[in-house]
Parts: sequence; C-alpha cells; structure tokens
Amino acid sequence: MPLSTPTYAFPYPAGTDRVMDGDNAIGALALAIENLLIANQFQHRQQSGRVSVGSVAGNAGASMAVTFAAGRFTQTPIVTTAAVGAGYGASGHAGASTTGVTIRGYNPQGSGWTISVDWHAIQALAGSGPGGLTIEPMAAAAYVVTCHTEGCENAGVPMPVAWDADIDGPEVRAVCGVCGEPITDTAAA
Ligand SMILES: [Zn+2]
Repeated sequence: MPLSTPTYAFPYPAGTDRVMDGDNAIGALALAIENLLIANQFQHRQQSGRVSVGSVAGNAGASMAVTFAAGRFTQTPIVTTAAVGAGYGASGHAGASTTGVTIRGYNPQGSGWTISVDWHAIQALAGSGPGGLTIEPMAAAAYVVTCHTEGCENAGVPMPVAWDADIDGPEVRAVCGVCGEPITDTAAA
C-alpha cells in the first residue's frame, strides 16, 4: 500500500513494501509528477463530470460525494452544478475541498426520478490575474474514501470528503471522480 505526500498526493513506497516493486512505485511517482506539470501549463486547474445521486422520490433530495483527481487542486475550487435530464431538477453542493465535493440533487416533481448532476470544479491560479480568488473549504472532512479500481489514477489514494449526515443522509455515498466507480472503502476522517 503506497503512502502519499500531504499536499500533492505524490505516491511513495512504505518501508515494508518489496524492493522488487520499486519500478512500479517510481512509475507511479513519475506519472503523478507528469500530471501535475500538465495541469500547471494552464492558468486554471479544473475537473468536471456527471454523477448520479440516485433514484429520488418526489419532493426529496439525495447526495453523492465525488472525489477529485489526486493532486489536481491546490486550493478549494469553485464548484458549479446543474441537474440534467427529465423534469426541472435542482442541484447544489457542499463541503468542497481540494480532494472532493458532495453533490446534492433535488427532485421537485411529484413522482420519483433518478437525478444526474453535471459538475464543474475550477481553481484559478495566481497567474490568471483578476478572478483568481481564494475560497475557504466550507466544511471539515467527515470521511476518507479510497478508490480501488484497477488502473484508476486515484486507486489506493485516500481522499477526504465532507458529508453532512443531517442533510446528506446517515450513510456516506461516494463515487470516484476519476474512474466513475462507486467507492465502498470509506472510513471516518
Ligand atoms: Zn477511481
């Protein structure tokens, strides 16, 4: 199980890892550095996706935590959302941080609806001039979730996410924002 640096989540081997796996460990580190260099070629860092918050009864809402690509953001990004599909769904988010955001969807219809929400997270860099504001995280992380999809760049990287049990529900629900697969490895932060 690789460890990771606190800010950019660069992976590195633990002391108990096998020396013969060093080529994979160095490869993973090289890939993480390359991805960061590519991200820094632009004046903004950003990520977007579409997530299903699930089947929602009429006049009710549901939430889904989404993780960002490890190391993509160095400050809390600004997140915008839009419910898509049938009906006039509402959407929003909470708990944005450098590692993830909890997407919320609301069904104002009388009958049930599986709500998909498009989301866009963007962080302006200092060199982008006016508009490069810094915002503070809105909530402390409640859970640390870890994707284990083989080949996913976030695989094995613990990603803190916020989750408000009063609003989002008693059980954390999370999806990997990189590979799109549900995350079942969740632990209290
Ligand atoms: Zn993943």
